[in-house]
Amino acid sequence: MTQNTSQPQPVVPDPRGPREVPQRSEDTSWGEGAGPVAPGGAVTGAGSTVTEEDLAVLAEQLGREPRGVVGIAARCVCGRPTVVRTAPRLPDGTPFPTTFYLTHPGAVAAASTLEANGVMKEMTERLAADEELAAAYLAAHEHYLAQREALGIVEEIAGISAGGMPTRVKCLHVLMAHALGFPGVNPLGDEALALVRDQWRPDRCSC
Ligand SMILES: [Zn+2]
Repeated sequence: MTQNTSQPQPVVPDPRGPREVPQRSEDTSWGEGAGPVAPGGAVTGAGSTVTEEDLAVLAEQLGREPRGVVGIAARCVCGRPTVVRTAPRLPDGTPFPTTFYLTHPGAVAAASTLEANGVMKEMTERLAADEELAAAYLAAHEHYLAQREALGIVEEIAGISAGGMPTRVKCLHVLMAHALGFPGVNPLGDEALALVRDQWRPDRCSC
């Protein structure tokens, strides 16, 4: 597996293999409630409630205790988290810009493969040449910041989104996580997801 250097923590594959499908929580007491259902039935959006079971799955996906979790932004059709929504400041005080963090090992591996294939350089070049794409990507950057600010203002990272937005592409994990939570908002995240469909997709469980 390609080492993922774009996100701050390593992702360790689950050595125990497939497991039982957890029940999706019906509790919507946190934030905006469970997100809209995307085509194919995968849950998306900012506010899906975090359960104790989610936290256990996240720990397994990340190979460490998840920190600063405030929601599940996207789930596999089976209900397991694919993207975690994280507070802009971790419990230890560290500013955390990656509000939407890709956790699913299959998705992380797919993003790493894409990064290794030079897709980010090509996308960055297109941003410089395509005004329409650049405008949509800027809007994605602003969406990202607004989503983070809804969780609190952290001066150290004010105005700085993630993944290279708004003018570069530096981390496809970030863009894919954003696009999984909010389909149609981040054109390059949507594009990256389309490029990895044969390897990983949220509407077909490979957990
Ligand atoms: Zn699954």
